[in-house]
Amino acid sequence: MKLRTYLFLFIVILLGIYLFLEQNLEINENENAISEQIDSNGKEKLKIANITQKRIINANDEPNLWLSHGRNYEEQRYSPLTQINKESIKDLELAWAFDMNSTRALESTPIVDDGIMFLTSEWSIVYAIDAKTGEEVWYYDPDVPKDWGRKACCDVVNRGVAVWKGYVFSATLDGRIIKLDAETGELIWEINTLIDPDGDYTITGAPRIANDLIFIGNGGAEYGVRGYVSAFNTETGKLVWRFYTVPGNPSLPFEHPEMEIAAETWKGGEWWKIGGGGTVWNSIVYDPEFNQVYIGVGNGSPWTRVIRSPGGGDNLFLSSMVALDADTGKMNWYYQTTPGDNWDYTAVQDMMLAEMEIDGKQRKVIMQAPKNGFFYVLDRKTGELLRAHKYAVVNWATHVDMETGRPVENKEKDYLEEKQWILPGALGGHNWQAMSYDPDLGLVYIPTQIAPTIYKMTEEWQKTGKIKYKPNSWNTGLELGKYLNLALAMPEVPIPTGSLQAFDPLTGEKRWEVNYPQHWNGGTLSTKAGLTFQGNGMGFFNAYDSSSGDLLWSKDIQTSMLAPPITFVIDDEQYIAILAGTGGGNNHGGDTLGFHTEHLASLKYGNSGRLLAFKLNGEAKLPRLDLLNKSIPEQPELTSSEFQINRGLELYGEYCAFCHGTAVRAGPALPDLRMMNNNSHELFKDIVYDGILKDNGMSSFSDVLSENDVESIYHYIVNTAKIDRQVQLEQNN
Ligand code: CA
Repeated sequence: MKLRTYLFLFIVILLGIYLFLEQNLEINENENAISEQIDSNGKEKLKIANITQKRIINANDEPNLWLSHGRNYEEQRYSPLTQINKESIKDLELAWAFDMNSTRALESTPIVDDGIMFLTSEWSIVYAIDAKTGEEVWYYDPDVPKDWGRKACCDVVNRGVAVWKGYVFSATLDGRIIKLDAETGELIWEINTLIDPDGDYTITGAPRIANDLIFIGNGGAEYGVRGYVSAFNTETGKLVWRFYTVPGNPSLPFEHPEMEIAAETWKGGEWWKIGGGGTVWNSIVYDPEFNQVYIGVGNGSPWTRVIRSPGGGDNLFLSSMVALDADTGKMNWYYQTTPGDNWDYTAVQDMMLAEMEIDGKQRKVIMQAPKNGFFYVLDRKTGELLRAHKYAVVNWATHVDMETGRPVENKEKDYLEEKQWILPGALGGHNWQAMSYDPDLGLVYIPTQIAPTIYKMTEEWQKTGKIKYKPNSWNTGLELGKYLNLALAMPEVPIPTGSLQAFDPLTGEKRWEVNYPQHWNGGTLSTKAGLTFQGNGMGFFNAYDSSSGDLLWSKDIQTSMLAPPITFVIDDEQYIAILAGTGGGNNHGGDTLGFHTEHLASLKYGNSGRLLAFKLNGEAKLPRLDLLNKSIPEQPELTSSEFQINRGLELYGEYCAFCHGTAVRAGPALPDLRMMNNNSHELFKDIVYDGILKDNGMSSFSDVLSENDVESIYHYIVNTAKIDRQVQLEQNN
């Protein structure tokens, strides 16, 4: 044969191999598609909510839906939808409202697919709602034991579900993951994620899913726990990997090699007895480009580093962003925002992925605005620090040294010897309320706050150099019991305020800012139409021009909001939906000092938990809410000693204020004890000491309080109510 014939045959064979391979690849793809519709028992899977990795990665091909927590894996909370735009928005009206039957904080981001919204409410209850009509399709109550509420630092909240291949996955306050049938809400399985099933752990965060693995962390660092993140198989519920964020007892072997690196940065203390902290209670982001999971790690436990680690050290991996291999949980890199955290500066705030040109180079980045007041832009492949501008008022540090990547602490604000007021405070310059990013404008929209905290070492520590660990209670090392007296003695401390700002992550420039008299406001949503939506503490659901900050639309909901809005399309109509209902980490919606709450809509009108959906020319009417009667009733005649009242103030500050408000001024989510009726007065000891209302979420405190203590708290409450009632009467005259 001639060379030409050989060549011809060769090409024919190559073509044959190519066609064979291509066909087989197609078959494999079809097999994948089929296997996604058939479960392990060979039964055909449900047709609804078959959300897959591919669909989340390609979420821009299905812009009408909201497929995962931050809409897609990048979690920018940026939607390509434009039917509601700067011109049409004047016609945006209520389409429907769904009563969530809740007076607690609602923080959930709904997932929308196949015309159904999947979301969560208080006590980890899961709802499926018809997204067009607002009618309930099903709901599932995981029956969280109500006395678990005492372990929740920041209300019995939940930030949402993950939906995957026809199933809804949700984490419960008491540490379980539940898998529900998306069509019926039927329970498929549940697993416990806790390393100590009775530990002071809570889960409030939304799980994330990729590679058929559910990623979940937990909270509880205020109480004294050890943080970790787990990955479970979505089919079997089996644990695939677990990454601890802080080292455990040094006399035991390291669970994984990263703990050896971490252990070298903890010195001299007995942190493992109080857990160490580092809980991953909010942000977990999957990155399909590098098959990495980024976890946002929380504050130290106790808050004060001198107790945790008296020999100094950075205390890895507190307050860090950590990149893990999604399949193995092995660490690829970490960046610690606050070495040796001393202020409750969690780095659990929402992280988002983006691509942008930085210093002439195209970069794949991860961004976060953690509590500590600096906005971080990191290369997400390597963890290299690219930017760290201040986005908030910061006095604990002067700046971040870009050479070392470390913040430079302000020595004048050291509180070891002398109490200090510090910004950001423990609520952060920004908290979990989600931010959004407009990639066209290159701006991030951040709900920010100026909410200082007064830091003072406890008298117990000052006297003994130690603190006694109290299970089921806050263990911070700070003087929280006498916080009110501390605050009153420091009138120079700024009054809390809030804002929404458009922030340039590369220059640190604040492009625009809208100031609010209330600091505790909601998360944001931005759209391709150049709109940024936010619900605020004053009860207004607003839309701003993303470029200028001009207010383009505003609806008075009469209920304070925290949850971020979402958007979707059904039958060619674009909807904007949001949960209303406040509370959470801020004295359950009150104020760090219990004052300055006069602007909170939910205190004026009640905290009516509702899911609201708006569309152009919507025709539903939102019923107007009436002003609440806030008159403090007459109080029983008591003879209280000064000692009793002072002791009561201290104990109330230590055990009651987180839920019922500093100075007995409650936020809207839980009862204001100045308003107690005769029955509650009579049963006060039975409630607080004997726990007769534990099934309502009010546990017994007999493990930390004596009957005498309870009596002192009662005298303090009645005395405070009397004083406040007198002020009210004088104001009304
Ligand atoms: Ca914390």
